[in-house]
This record gives sequence, structure tokens and C-alpha cells, in this order.
Amino acid sequence: MTKIDYTRISRQVRETLIKMAYGAGNIGTHIGGSLSAVEILAALYMGVMNISKGGLTSETRDRFILSKGHAAMCQFAVMHQKGIVTDEDIATFKQNGSLFHAHPVINAERGIEFSGGSLGQGLSLAVGTALGLKLKKNDTSSIFVLLGDGECNEGAVWEAAMSAAHYKLGNITAIIDVNRLQLDDFTERVMSLGELEQKFSGFGWRTTVCDGHSVDELIAALSSEHSEQPYCVLANTVKGKGVSFMENVASWHNNRLSKSQYAQALSEVGGI
Ligand SMILES: [Mg+2]
Repeated sequence: MTKIDYTRISRQVRETLIKMAYGAGNIGTHIGGSLSAVEILAALYMGVMNISKGGLTSETRDRFILSKGHAAMCQFAVMHQKGIVTDEDIATFKQNGSLFHAHPVINAERGIEFSGGSLGQGLSLAVGTALGLKLKKNDTSSIFVLLGDGECNEGAVWEAAMSAAHYKLGNITAIIDVNRLQLDDFTERVMSLGELEQKFSGFGWRTTVCDGHSVDELIAALSSEHSEQPYCVLANTVKGKGVSFMENVASWHNNRLSKSQYAQALSEVGGI
């Protein structure tokens, strides 16, 4: 079996993201929180999840729920590497008539499980999906859900966290993209999250912390068995990762690139 070159894949995803952002023209894109999630989604789609182009509606597939729906462009760019999303799909991103918008729109045939973007809802869907799979006696499929750290401000996240532990939903893995920023400021200034790991473990989850830009660490964390306990991977990341003028800068949550910024960003992501 050919070894997967995650460095090359992550670089190509970042290049695609920069092209998608510039190609969107005068409208902003969620480039910062997409760049923080590149390795997380690459590890999931290319290394961990049982999702293939030929089996997008298979009952035995793993399910991926993008709860931080504003990172849809990253999901599309990684699915492009997987061969699920086409060049034409990428070219029509955010254009009239496209299936690929700023937030994911549910489309089973194209592998989009959830219409995300209204934050705080994905973990609840994961709980419902996990219970449904149990009723169907499906013990092969896993559910992976990606949340933002700022998203953990939402009370519904904690209601879902409590439910997942109560129902012993060991088929759920939640990944938190801990990039320390949300919308327009640092999470610490908007709403202190405290010790997120302790919060999840307090709700009955097994937890681990890893470098969210290390695919090796992510795959090791995401491949861990957790039988009857829901599992939370806290992935420490940098918002805007790979582009110097975007890294840790709140205004790149949703923004547009000038021509010179586009050239610089492409050059920088090509070199990492
Ligand atoms: Mg964040």
C-alpha cells in the first residue's frame, strides 16, 4: 500500500484554500478557521475515516459532521484531495448555482452529512446519529464531529456532551479545533473556556490533547479505542496556519485577499 504523503496533501489543501478565497472575489471567506483545520480534516478523511467516493451513502460508512460549519471550504478542499469533490466543484465555490457554499449544505450523494453553520448543533446531531446506529445494531460505523473552541460557548454543546456520556456513546469522537480565536477576538476575551479538557472529562468523556498540525499525533489520537465512552480530542492549532499575515489575527476569520496578499499567501503555503 502506498504511504500517504500528508505533508504534500496539507500543502495542496492550503493552496486550494487560498485559490478558493481569492476566487470568491469581493466576498469574504472563512479562511482563518479553515487553515487551522487542514491537518485535522486530512487525518480524518485520508487516514482515519471509512469514507470512500464509492460508498458515500453506505450504511457502514463513518459519519463526519462539520459543526464549525464556517470551515466548509476546508472540508471541500480535503474532499477534493480524496476525489469526492471535483475541480469544477472547487471552481464554483460560493458562486450562484453551486452546491458548495460558505457553509455545508446537506447532500448525501456528495458526502455532506449536515447543514452546518449555526453553531452548537453538530454534537447534538452526533448524539442522535449515534443512538440511531445503536438501534440499527450498527457497531462498525463511527461518528466524527469537528467543533470550534469558540463554539463551546454554546450551551447546547454541553447538553449534548451530557447526553453522549449518559447513553455511553462510544461511537462518537468529537474533535475541538482549539485555535484560541473566534469570530472577532480571542476566546479568552470573548468568553473564557477555562480547562476544556477537564470540562469534557467532567461530563464523562475520555479526553486527550494533541498538536492539531501534526498528522501523526492526530491519527494516533483519533485511532484510539474508546468502547462505551464518548471521546474528545482537543487539537491545539493556529488560526490562519501557514500564512504569516493571517496567523493568530482575528480579522482573518472572514476576509478577502488583495492581489498582493494572494500572491504572498500562495507563496508561503507552497513552502511549508
Ligand atoms: Mg476558534
